[in-house]
Amino acid sequence: MRFRDPFLAMVALSGFVLMLSFVAKESASARPVFPEERRLRLFHTHTGERIDIVYRRGDAYLDDALGRLDHFLRDHRTGQGLHYDPHLFDLLTDLTAAAGKPDAEIAVVCGYRSPWSNEFLRAHTAGVAKHSLHMQARAIDIRLPGVSTRDLRSAALSLHRGGVGYYPRSGFIHVDTGRVTQWCFGCSDGLAD
Ligand SMILES: [Zn+2]
Repeated sequence: MRFRDPFLAMVALSGFVLMLSFVAKESASARPVFPEERRLRLFHTHTGERIDIVYRRGDAYLDDALGRLDHFLRDHRTGQGLHYDPHLFDLLTDLTAAAGKPDAEIAVVCGYRSPWSNEFLRAHTAGVAKHSLHMQARAIDIRLPGVSTRDLRSAALSLHRGGVGYYPRSGFIHVDTGRVTQWCFGCSDGLAD
């Protein structure tokens, strides 16, 4: 194709460039690359608060979201909070997926525990560790509505990450980012089936 008129040639060229950029945009939007988002939905059984939040995009933890989760998981007795180990949040999202309920709302029985609260609990209830990982903001006690405590415990054990405590009489499990271990509180042999 030849254009004797330089103006026409320019118009044809710019049209061609426009078309190329359009094709490039189309092919880019046909293959979108979104980083994987990690989201948590939590209900706190003591404060009655709810949170539904994306806390990680790809490999990046979102500081603002982590701050909100730290506040959400504060000691409900004293109001004190501590910065949570974000790997615990990854453990929770993997746990709901392993339990077959990736979008379910997790019921939080206990998040961060200040040293005062831990001592208070140790004095008034059984089954509370002196050096609990709750005091390091690395542990959480939870239920998952629609999933039995026993099945939730099995799902947690299947991840092979951190500690898994089973409290069948109280109807919750404990998970933490400490060493891989497990226990049962209230089971006659220490570990229920
Ligand atoms: Zn616990």
